[in-house]
Amino acid sequence: MRRSIYLGTLTFFGIVMMATGFEARQERSSLVVHSLSDNLYMLANATGVEGIGSGGNTAIFVTDGGVTLVDTKIQGYGQDILAAVRTLTDKPVTTIINTHTHWDHSGSNTEFPDTVQFVAHENTRRNMASEDCDDGAGFQGGSIKNCQAFKGANARYLPQTTYSDTLTLFSGVDQIDLYYFGRGHTDGDTFVVFREARTMHTGDMFARPGLPFVDVPNSNGSAVEFGETLKKAIAGISGVDTVIPGHNPVPLAWSDFVNYSGFYNDLVMQTQAGKAAGRTVDEVVSSYRVPSQFSGNAAPPDRVRATVQYLFDGQ
Ligand SMILES: [Zn+2]
Repeated sequence: MRRSIYLGTLTFFGIVMMATGFEARQERSSLVVHSLSDNLYMLANATGVEGIGSGGNTAIFVTDGGVTLVDTKIQGYGQDILAAVRTLTDKPVTTIINTHTHWDHSGSNTEFPDTVQFVAHENTRRNMASEDCDDGAGFQGGSIKNCQAFKGANARYLPQTTYSDTLTLFSGVDQIDLYYFGRGHTDGDTFVVFREARTMHTGDMFARPGLPFVDVPNSNGSAVEFGETLKKAIAGISGVDTVIPGHNPVPLAWSDFVNYSGFYNDLVMQTQAGKAAGRTVDEVVSSYRVPSQFSGNAAPPDRVRATVQYLFDGQ
């Protein structure tokens, strides 16, 4: 039985921090903890938060050896994440997995002790260390500069533990499996599976039920390969019932992930068929309708256009 613990204290904590000048952000997003098992939680924006809010969903996994987090939201939310952890356990945060490079998933890495073991796909580490990533400067009044977040002395917050195809952390009931299946949202997206809880964090390979943002320009993502990567994940991962999406405010089911893959791959097929028939991007976009079996997935017109254009361009 899932339950959600609404953390009124978090909002209070945020106000205290603002009053002491620790964090100059004007608006802070209220967070909510969704309990997925006895020791696995999803820390999300409270429903009703508009826009990016605090950033992507954070998984909190509590074991005897310490706490593992997946993703750290945007810059300035480290203390909020720690406050949520403290409502669940006194154990220290020992491991942080970043599903991908983006500033709304790794923004608070540097607000944790540098004794934490940071883990990510090898391409994500490269992206985090690069000079030209999308640093989210257009958000929060330009205050977020994630490209600079890991420069200089802060390079110690870059993932030291990387992998290429799969990686297993811990064992027994604590086992966590990391999988990389190819390019999609970026070129370094990890699917994180908590074995005992039969739960998977998808990062932004499944941000929410709807057409994904594909970061072609800054993180070598690929709309062309996105659909194949989803298929490989479905074929290659078993034993998952519950999904922590990248941004959806509530947990979802494995069946939602499978349906989303079908939805995305249907658009790929429709686009390929349209292009082969000599139709233009405009014609494919204007005739596109979400098939009824995928009706739970959103297809905003700008996202349809961007995806179809990338597919036409082979990107
Ligand atoms: Zn992202």
